[in-house]
Amino acid sequence: MGEFDLIARYFQRPVRRAVLGVGDDCALLAPAPGMQLAVSSDMLVEGRHFLPTVQPEALGHKALAVNLSDLAACGAQPLAFTLALALPRVDEDWLAGFSRGLLALADAHGCELVGGDTTAGPLNICITVFGEVPAGQALLRSGARAGDDIYVSGTVGDARLALEAFRGTLSLPAEVFAAARQRMERPTPRVALGLALRGVASSAIDVSDGLLGDLMHVLRASGVGARVEASVAPELIAASAYVSSARGQFDPETLATCVFAGGDDYELAFTAPPAARDAVQAAARDAGTRATRIGVVEAQPGLRLVDGAGHALDLRRLHGFDHFA
Ligand code: ADP
Ligand code: MG
Repeated sequence: MGEFDLIARYFQRPVRRAVLGVGDDCALLAPAPGMQLAVSSDMLVEGRHFLPTVQPEALGHKALAVNLSDLAACGAQPLAFTLALALPRVDEDWLAGFSRGLLALADAHGCELVGGDTTAGPLNICITVFGEVPAGQALLRSGARAGDDIYVSGTVGDARLALEAFRGTLSLPAEVFAAARQRMERPTPRVALGLALRGVASSAIDVSDGLLGDLMHVLRASGVGARVEASVAPELIAASAYVSSARGQFDPETLATCVFAGGDDYELAFTAPPAARDAVQAAARDAGTRATRIGVVEAQPGLRLVDGAGHALDLRRLHGFDHFA
């Protein structure tokens, strides 16, 4: 099968909102008046961002999900995306699964595939998404202010738990592993929450590299610091019942590493003034997720992770284990 047959069969769809989709030299998009375009790219490389064992359908889902997550963090409504794909060979089973997972998520968000590029090479997937947001209303990393509450949506830490199980550094009961693996391979971009937080949150970021590391980007961009409560860790991880049980042989540092430094969660970390507490909870409820308050923004720069007694924990220890090295 040639390049153009491949594109026509797996990636070309009838145009809906776009002015022009796949097939010409450029796609054409017409943002509504008064809207700004929000644009983001994410590349996925085998071995670095996904394991060779992942099902192609899950990979298609994840490739778009991580991009939609960036739109969510800006409070943008998804419009369209392009797909640049390097493939080692034409494997029709792989292409069918990959495009099914990709386009199902695209359809769920009304986000059209309008173009791309296809070439031979080591497996590499690069997507650029386009979204729209009313001018001046995008959520930014730079808006956090001292006194704001800090929140995270949904659950965090489970993707890292699955990764460590894959690596063999810890073992999980089958049902716990299956659920954690689902979180790692099929993340849910918090698009509805991002939209609901416009005008409510003072800043936002999506959690891709680890909760505290990503929060640090917000703090730096905003010129502030933060105190985060370590005691929230057990309630932030979806495998909470397991890690709190006698079977879950978790030392507190392993749990803290998964939750606070885990990565691959694709939840939103955001800040909002205390006056917006009810509005934050309403936004999370409407978006079908939850928002957990994990700390507070402070004027003093830096990030302090504190235990129940208010003692600061050494953040370096989150990365300091052998099995997480
Ligand atoms: P050009 O040579 O002008 O870059 P190509 O021959 O690479 O165009 O691609 C032909 C058309 O197919 C273009 O409209 C391009 O956007 C689209 N396309 C190529 N690869 C993909 C893909 N993986 N998914 C969606 N559209 C694609
Ligand atoms: Mg080309």
